[in-house]
Amino acid sequence: MLHDAHGFWIAEAGSPEVLPPLDGDRRADVVVIGGGYTGLWTAWHVLAADPEAEVVVLEAGRCGHGPSGRNGGFVTGVDLSLPALRREYGDAAAEAWAAAARETVDAIGEWCEAEGVDAWYRRGGELVVSTAPAQDGVGADAVAAAPAHARTDGPSVLAQTPQEARARCDSPVFRAGVFVPAAATVHPARLAFGLRERLLARGAHVYEGSRATGMRPVPEGVAVRTAGGEVRARIAVLAVNAASGGLAPLRNRLTVSSSHIVCTEPVPDVIEQLGWDGGEAISDGRALLHYTRTTRDGRIVFGWAGGRMAAGARTGGRMEVDHRVIAQVRADLLRFFPQLAGRRIEHAWGGPIDVSPTHRPAIAGLRGLPAWAAFGYTGNGVGPAQLFGRTLAALALDRRDPVTRLPFVDPPPRRVPPEPLRIAGAALIRRALVRKEAAEEAGGRPDPLTAGVAALPRLLGLHIVR
Ligand SMILES: Cc1cc2nc3c(=O)[nH]c(=O)nc-3n(C[C@H](O)[C@H](O)[C@H](O)COP(=O)(O)OP(=O)(O)OC[C@H]3O[C@@H](n4cnc5c(N)ncnc54)[C@H](O)[C@@H]3O)c2cc1C
Repeated sequence: MLHDAHGFWIAEAGSPEVLPPLDGDRRADVVVIGGGYTGLWTAWHVLAADPEAEVVVLEAGRCGHGPSGRNGGFVTGVDLSLPALRREYGDAAAEAWAAAARETVDAIGEWCEAEGVDAWYRRGGELVVSTAPAQDGVGADAVAAAPAHARTDGPSVLAQTPQEARARCDSPVFRAGVFVPAAATVHPARLAFGLRERLLARGAHVYEGSRATGMRPVPEGVAVRTAGGEVRARIAVLAVNAASGGLAPLRNRLTVSSSHIVCTEPVPDVIEQLGWDGGEAISDGRALLHYTRTTRDGRIVFGWAGGRMAAGARTGGRMEVDHRVIAQVRADLLRFFPQLAGRRIEHAWGGPIDVSPTHRPAIAGLRGLPAWAAFGYTGNGVGPAQLFGRTLAALALDRRDPVTRLPFVDPPPRRVPPEPLRIAGAALIRRALVRKEAAEEAGGRPDPLTAGVAALPRLLGLHIVR
């Protein structure tokens, strides 16, 4: 098994040639910091709205080599969060967000089609399924809250009996669940690299190996510094995902944890035996969820959001590859699919997750600077980053677009405790959750102390599930 932070997707897609770093000073209309989906979609939408705009993208490493190029590839909306969104923002705003997110799932497929980017887009829907009695009822509130005619698909969330769930994928641990039609899967690296290539063709100036080291206000707007030079622009967009947690203005808006994935050798016979031919993206009802999908070349990709917390929101190291977590993911894969016993795991990798205390991403203005930042995807950024890119582009260009009025733009800030309290508390709660959910899956109950600690986030008003 290859433990490699870049994982299967980047290996399969083959990295494009590295672009030269920023060398000298230059001007732009919009400077985007970060070349993952958020930054690339922002640049794309700026140029789509104003083809004459000068857009600079500064990427510390290589575009798409962060989580954007190595995630699970689930393209999802927020239908499962609709009950919580309704409570937080009221019916109209919540439904507007859910409708925009649903449209985004389709928009990514339409973009791939229109731009000739073969990102393995497959609109197979999302199955969320209980795999233990403690998870029963997962998604039931979303079925009740679902608009009846969300789109031509009919209801946006459908209840699934155990038989219906197992007809989609015949795992012995699947119980009842829910199905969300408006969801898809992609090959994450092909999407990221395709975006980068199309952006270059449209005239964006993309600099790799160009870490932004500072921002300051200047008469024409904002100046962003790298080791090689400075970009002065009217406005900046900060799209650095988990690295946001290391920046002073956003330090208390998120914590950083990790998620890890294993990928099998091609197993078309097992996929056929499971009857898993609909391309469904599947996750379970845990708080620290498992997620799994098939690939076009007949593999099973399986991930778990149960990695460790990062002290001080530092990325790298065990956030990228954690052998202990990978061993657990491998064991969990076999629990879902015992048919895979004896089959090879060819790749294993991980990446940092920017966890927001509300479980929702946000776009916020940076005080004292003409700059917007997007952060807090909490492991669900593939679809939302496209919507955020559209929103950030409209904000950067000061254009009217209904998406800029959605509740994720400048929501009231929710803060996480400062370090070292944050890492100590979060790590304790996370370990309790891991123990609790493992005990429940084994058919037992957690001890009272574990159950009490695992319940803390709910008691503190922190959202740690959908
Ligand atoms: C293992 C794993 C599985 C996941 N699975 C899913 C999934 O199935 N579905 C889903 O919706 N989401 C998933 N996610 C989350 C998803 O990948 C992210 O939410 C999404 O990619 C965020 O995109 P981004 O552009 O904001 O961030 P990134 O992809 O992290 O891009 C940020 C970029 O900024 C760069 N950068 C950082 N600091 C600087 C700086 N100072 N200057 C310049 N550049 C800088 C980084 O090098 C990086 O390239 C998963 C994440 C992981 C780790």
